[in-house]
Amino acid sequence: MRSYIDPIFDNAAKGFCIMCNTPAVPGGMTCSENCHKEFIKLCEEKFGKVKKVVDQTTDVAYEVPTRDIVEIGLKWEDLAKYPMWNDKDE
Ligand SMILES: [Zn+2]
Repeated sequence: MRSYIDPIFDNAAKGFCIMCNTPAVPGGMTCSENCHKEFIKLCEEKFGKVKKVVDQTTDVAYEVPTRDIVEIGLKWEDLAKYPMWNDKDE
């Protein structure tokens, strides 16, 4: 699958904790609950509470909570359940 989220999320695919670089829990982005909380805080600071995610097959942008991307992980089929991005602030 093609990556459509910032490269920071790609690091998790390598199996290491994004925060402290030790092996992460299987399928997870971090090694512990503490790193997980810190990581979400970092993401919300870096990306804001919601993130604009563009479906590259349709060019439709969706407003996705950063926390959802981190905790659930984002799949193509999930994008449509989020509100469409409102460009009024850009
Ligand atoms: Zn960690």
